[in-house]
Amino acid sequence: TQTTQASQAQLREQLAILHEQYDQLAAKKLDLDLTRGKPGTAQVALSSALDGILGGDYLAADGSDARNYGGLDGLPEARSLFGAMLGMRPEETLVGGNSSLTLMYQVVEFALREGLRGPESAWANHDEAKFLCPVPGYDRHFSICEYFGIDMLPVPLLDSGPDMDEVEALVAADPTIRGIWCVPRFSNPTGCVYSAATVERLARLPQQASSEFIVMWDNAYAVHELYDDAPQLAPISDYARQFDTMDNIFQFGSTSKITFAGAGVAFVGSSERNLATLKAHLAFQTIGPDKVNQLRHVRFLQDPVTIAAHMEHHAALMRPRFEAVLTTLEQELGDGDMGCWTRPRGGYFISFDALPGLAGEIVGLAARIGVKLTPAGATFPYGRDPEDRNIRLSPSFPSLEDVQASVDAFVLCVKIATLQQRLH
Ligand code: PLP
Repeated sequence: TQTTQASQAQLREQLAILHEQYDQLAAKKLDLDLTRGKPGTAQVALSSALDGILGGDYLAADGSDARNYGGLDGLPEARSLFGAMLGMRPEETLVGGNSSLTLMYQVVEFALREGLRGPESAWANHDEAKFLCPVPGYDRHFSICEYFGIDMLPVPLLDSGPDMDEVEALVAADPTIRGIWCVPRFSNPTGCVYSAATVERLARLPQQASSEFIVMWDNAYAVHELYDDAPQLAPISDYARQFDTMDNIFQFGSTSKITFAGAGVAFVGSSERNLATLKAHLAFQTIGPDKVNQLRHVRFLQDPVTIAAHMEHHAALMRPRFEAVLTTLEQELGDGDMGCWTRPRGGYFISFDALPGLAGEIVGLAARIGVKLTPAGATFPYGRDPEDRNIRLSPSFPSLEDVQASVDAFVLCVKIATLQQRLH
């Protein structure tokens, strides 16, 4: 019809203007990167005082010498400080090395191969082991499952956390489902905070599942709020004590995004019984963790109030970057007919959903003008986003100027991809 022809012509005109802007950007030979959630240089510099903080005093609170072997579960004062972050007692907390991801990997490996309740309980005794994966989610969780051949079942991640109706139905119907991945506060990538009702249902979930079912509670962003009004997370440990499911819940955290990324300390909280099992397996891998680094962290971070004050400095660096992205998305795509996105109150990520079928195209358009985006699909098991629409944006690492330039280029690519689709 005439109107469609007219609007097609209009679209083509708009697209030509956008392509002109795109070519101008291409000529600038940009080299920008919004991919990984790394803290910026000014952020890691906030913890430079870690260096030399011990001033020659290596004695831990119990009089032991942090420079020497001993203590597979970490320094008592570190267990108490980081246990508190997870709502766990020191005896229920093991402080390990530099990476919480390593601890997660080890828990999955031991549960699969050795069994958390003795060899008969190993998941590998059965033909199949499956995990529930709220999507979009953290690619490295999914990689652990893929590495061990654990089948992944995606479940939708809502603003309130995983879709619990679906989670409960799946778990009730299939005893080979062995666990679920959770990033309960400022999830990677949507930034959502699980509601109290969801936390409660997750704490009760093991009652409905096979006895070897575990909740992998990766609280990587436990204290990473950007604003004072950021939603709090209901403590899963309180519910787990009430429902007697502590044996089925593993909580994780680290200081990777509090002090030094990859050179902080990581911790796991669970029942004392689970920690004893974990230690029995760990003892084959290590004599003990780096307690000097643990002591440095305890002297530096001290207590929850000091940690909160420290995190406020992080937030001051992060907020303008988040706001640059969100303001530009709002201004340029605010109508909502080209996509939607999250507005997190903390964490490291913003999750953008393009129109179905366009995420790969947008990431490719951006790459061709020197703007690296997280590969489309990365937030889904096996790297497959069935609707090809989710893109994770991580504005923490680049300078504010580069974040702005990146998001300007990003919205241009979203518009081009969308108009191209409309034309076809
Ligand atoms: N868990 C989540 C949800 C993350 O986003 C990250 C890093 O981006 C990690 C864990 C990695 O933690 P770690 O450095 O303690 O291994």
